[in-house]
Amino acid sequence: MTQIAAIIVAAGRGSRAGGGLPKQWRPLGSARVIDATLAAFRAGGIGRLVVVIHPEDATLAAGLAETGCAVVHGAETRAGSVLAGLAALEADPPDMVLIHDAARPLVRPALIARVLEALDTHPGAAPAVAVTDALWRGTQGLVSGTQDRTGLWRAQTPQGFHYAAILAAHRAHPGGAADDVEVARAAGLDVAIVAGDEDNLKITAPEDFARATRLMGAAMDIRTGNGFDVHAFGPGDHVWLCGVKVPHDRALMGHSDADVGMHAVTDAIYGALGMGDIGQHFPPSEARWKGAASHIFLEHACALAREHGFDITHADCTLICERPKIGPHAPAMKAEMARIMGLSPDRISVKATTSERLGFTGREEGIAALATATLLKGQP
Ligand code: MG
Repeated sequence: MTQIAAIIVAAGRGSRAGGGLPKQWRPLGSARVIDATLAAFRAGGIGRLVVVIHPEDATLAAGLAETGCAVVHGAETRAGSVLAGLAALEADPPDMVLIHDAARPLVRPALIARVLEALDTHPGAAPAVAVTDALWRGTQGLVSGTQDRTGLWRAQTPQGFHYAAILAAHRAHPGGAADDVEVARAAGLDVAIVAGDEDNLKITAPEDFARATRLMGAAMDIRTGNGFDVHAFGPGDHVWLCGVKVPHDRALMGHSDADVGMHAVTDAIYGALGMGDIGQHFPPSEARWKGAASHIFLEHACALAREHGFDITHADCTLICERPKIGPHAPAMKAEMARIMGLSPDRISVKATTSERLGFTGREEGIAALATATLLKGQP
C-alpha cells in the first residue's frame, strides 16, 4: 500500500493578516487556522502529518503533538522549512508527500485525492486554477499594457511529489524558489496540473478571515440517503452479499450478480445525491449489465458523489434473512465494501437480522437489504 505523508508549512510570520499572531495560529471559526488545515488533511485520509513551525511558536504548537502530528522547527526560508519537514520523514520514508501551506485551511478531500491520483502517473502534481480575468500591466496608477493570459495558472497547494525525488531536488536546489514545483522542475521532474478549487484560498489579508469563515459555514452540506432492495432465491450453491461470495444451498436471482446488500448501499448513495437509482443508471433492459458484478454500480455511485463535491462519510447496511448466517462474513464484507468505496472500514457497517420467520424473508424466499449513506460536502 502506498504510504503518504503531508508536510504542513507553518513557519511563516504572516504579519500582513494583522492581529498580532502569525495568521496560521489565529482563530478561524471554533478553532485556529492550522487546526482547520490539519482537520482537512485527516478528512482526506492523510494521518501522517508533519507540521513545520517557527521556533518562536513552540508554545502555540504545544498541543499538536498530542493529536499525533510530528512538529519540527523550520528555517529562515520557506524552502529551508520544507527541507526540515522532508528530513523529518527520512527515517521511515513515505512513497508520496504532500506539501501544503498552513494558511490554506479550506482544502477539500476531493482536491487532495486529485493530487494523489495524478502522482500515480507523474513524479509531481499540483492544483491550479486557470487565470480567467484580463491581465494588465500598470505604471503609476495607469494601465500601461495588457498581458496575454493564455496558459497562465494560479498555483495552489498541496503540491504532491514522489518523496525520494523531491527530497533529492530540495537538497540539490541552490535556493530562492517560489514554491516546491519550481524546486521539482529545476531537478527535471514533470509536474502535472490538476484542477484547483477557487475556495482553497490562502489566508493573506485580514479580510480573508471573513471570507474563509463564510465559506466554511456556507459550503457544508450534509445528506442522508436510504436504499432498499430484495432478491429472490433460486437454485444455486452460493450468494454474493456485500462483495463476498458466501456458500449457501441456494443463489439469489437477478439481472446482475444479485448482491442485494451492495445494491441497497448503492441506492442509498444515489438517494443522498437525489440522482435516481441503480435501475435508472444501469437499465435491466440493457443486455450489457446481465450478470454484471455489482461493484460496477457502487463504484459509479461513489464517483458521482465525488464529481459533485461530496465525500461519503458513512454507510450502514442491514441484511434481512434467516440463512445464510452473516455474522462470520461481516468483517470481510466491511473490508470489501470499504475497498470498493475507497473508505476506511470503520466508516462501513454491515449487520444482519432475521425477521423471526415472518414474511418472505422468514419463509426463506429471498433476502432483503436496507442501507443508509451519509454524504458531506465542505468542512464542519
Ligand atoms: Mg437489486
